[in-house]
Amino acid sequence: MSYKNFPMVPRVIFGRGSFNQLSELLSPNRLSNAAPFIFLVDDVFRTEINVTSRIPISYQDRIVYVSTKEEPKTSQVDALVEDIILTSKERPSGIIGIGGGSILDLAKAVAIMLTNEGNAEDYQGWDLVKNKAIYHVGIPTISGTGAEVSRTTVLTGPTRKLGINSDFTPFDQVVLDPEMTNGAPKEQWFYTGMDCFIHCVESLKGTYLNAFSRTYGEMAYNICKEIYLDGKLSKKEAQDKLMMASWHGGMSIAYSQVGVAHAMSYGLSYLLGTKHGIGNCIVFNHLEEFYSEGVKLFKKMVEIHNIKLPTGICADLSDKDLDTMIGIALSLEPLWENAVGKNWKKIITPKKLKALYIKM
Ligand code: NAD
Ligand code: ZN
Repeated sequence: MSYKNFPMVPRVIFGRGSFNQLSELLSPNRLSNAAPFIFLVDDVFRTEINVTSRIPISYQDRIVYVSTKEEPKTSQVDALVEDIILTSKERPSGIIGIGGGSILDLAKAVAIMLTNEGNAEDYQGWDLVKNKAIYHVGIPTISGTGAEVSRTTVLTGPTRKLGINSDFTPFDQVVLDPEMTNGAPKEQWFYTGMDCFIHCVESLKGTYLNAFSRTYGEMAYNICKEIYLDGKLSKKEAQDKLMMASWHGGMSIAYSQVGVAHAMSYGLSYLLGTKHGIGNCIVFNHLEEFYSEGVKLFKKMVEIHNIKLPTGICADLSDKDLDTMIGIALSLEPLWENAVGKNWKKIITPKKLKALYIKM
């Protein structure tokens, strides 16, 4: 098929306080009293009674708190799946992820691995998943990644950082309740929000651009400017709009691709464990050559919000480490093709990436 036929999230609820409707959304999907709903919840909410007391637990349902100190790993998905199988009488009715991109991705991956044999690493790549995932629901608590709407779940495996991209990956239901983002720490709000901004720049400046991606991308790009540059919105308006920017930014890359910042930040993440939002910011700050207007605006936003980006994170790396990062970055071919064009290999050499990395 020359045009891709993408699945989208079939059901979404939007509104402040819509989290309170979770029980109504879940109950028609309960398979039996012995088939639990498993709530994967960011550890940060363990002591947030306002959130935990509203998670609708009945029968054998379980809350599993997950630390997001590190981003999701294939081994972590496998361990969660094993634990769920061992502790549930029947195959679960559904998996509900409550958290940022890390938890949303874990929820998607666990839902897939409950119905597919083998290990999560076997499915990193494109269209390798054979069986439909179990019912899964995403409830973002910080906005920007677009993981709530995307067709991928990004995982670090033994040899690479790569998503499980499949028609079975998107959520069956998403709950967009901007109040859930109330507690997001300021720096993280900036980094994750900039992930959205960078998605838009990479999509809008990419060679894969088309009207589908452009319309979503422009919408999200303008919202990011409104929030992070103009600063005239109230906190509530900004929360509401950022949640929609994240959605649209994710939709924009669905039908195109990300670009240079993501390719290089995957290298940082793989070697140094640098997290996605901050890693993209560290890289993007040095990409004037590829995205001059976007980087100019980004620097302004960094200044306005008084963000201190880490520097010198690659200064002491050995040549071997640099080569590992460069290898990871260069392996993401579609990202480079989108960013630079079909002949990208002529322009993007290991030497060029090394020069960029050591500036970071
Ligand atoms: P995250 O989920 O790692 O969360 C970042 C931090 O914010 C964590 O410490 C978390 O505890 C905290 N946090 C989140 N919500 C909070 C709240 N309401 N109150 C207090 N603290 C809160 O960060 P992220 O930037 O949302 O996600 C990054 C991950 O998303 C990466 O693993 C990345 O690979 C993935 N990602 C996936 C896609 C996709 O399409 N699947 C796209 C982009 C990024
Ligand atoms: Zn991203």
